[in-house]
Amino acid sequence: MSGYHPDVRALTVEPQAAGSVRVEDVPDPRPGEGELLVRGVAVGLCGTDKEIVRGDYGWSPPDSDRLVLGHESLGRVEQSPEGSGFERGDLVAGVVRRPDPQPCGACAHGEWDMCRNGQYTERGIKELHGYASELWTVPADFAVKIEPHLGMSGVLMEPTSVVAKAWEQVERVGERAWFEPATVLVTGAGPIGLLAAMLGVQRGLDVHVLDRVTEGPKPGLVEALGATYHSTSVAEVAREHRPDVVIEATGVGQLVFDAIAATATYGIVCLTGVSSRGHTLGVDAGGLNREIVLENDALVGSVNANLRHYRQAADALARADADWLGRLITTRVPLEDAPAAFDQPSDDDVKVVITLDREDSR
Ligand SMILES: [Zn+2]
Ligand SMILES: [Zn+2]
Repeated sequence: MSGYHPDVRALTVEPQAAGSVRVEDVPDPRPGEGELLVRGVAVGLCGTDKEIVRGDYGWSPPDSDRLVLGHESLGRVEQSPEGSGFERGDLVAGVVRRPDPQPCGACAHGEWDMCRNGQYTERGIKELHGYASELWTVPADFAVKIEPHLGMSGVLMEPTSVVAKAWEQVERVGERAWFEPATVLVTGAGPIGLLAAMLGVQRGLDVHVLDRVTEGPKPGLVEALGATYHSTSVAEVAREHRPDVVIEATGVGQLVFDAIAATATYGIVCLTGVSSRGHTLGVDAGGLNREIVLENDALVGSVNANLRHYRQAADALARADADWLGRLITTRVPLEDAPAAFDQPSDDDVKVVITLDREDSR
């Protein structure tokens, strides 16, 4: 019988303390009312996890010194409440953010990704334990089903939800007047950039992706989508292709400003990359203002995702080429080796995942 699971291991950190990441036994998670019990299959790692491990970000739950990491989840349902719509064996991902307790107007409307007061919580990041655990629970209302044929690629659900939101933002901003985009430039060929490109291709757009590297898996992944890979400059791609939409996924300050200048008239730039503070650029503010005003350009920032975006992501993943998605996962690290994985940055990696399921993963 379930209920007792000896030796549930998880990847934990003491937030704001560099070098504190380790694998340890955690209390047996017990599903509360309306919750699923889920056996972890994998978690994806991203820049946010690295920041937390470096001690630069992250908050533990109020009753704990440590935080279970992991917000890009994939698991298999072990137990589900009657009538939840989930069954044992379903592949699922858990939503990252929870509405703030107050709640603000946005959270009250299910738009916790747009929370106004900053009191939201996030699994594996802010005051809630994450999903990098061999066993975890999640309210059924904050879980999303993943097509079984996707297998391990289902771990891309969370980053895809972020990209689905970014595209929704672009389309909503576009709808303020006549809008029929043809060409999109994506800057950065990491997981967010590549998934943004995939959603652009699914929309029937002419997609261009710009990144620094000329080797490794990125150029081939872009070509395999039917998109065009560039390793030149924003200005050069813009001169030739005049993108209606730019999705910026690097957070590199110079690229952000280049992107604004790069768009066609009525261009939309969606910023999804987070820059570090303190990098000063010489910017022609007058020229930038002329560009934005005289072209009716729009600039929008986008982060996180609500349940609607997870559903959009599930649809996009279901329609995607499963082999192509699988190629995004360039490195798999078993849980016990996960702490060391943070010391080995590789330019050739697209998505590194930590595998949690002792049978499934190797
Ligand atoms: Zn992430
Ligand atoms: Zn809120």
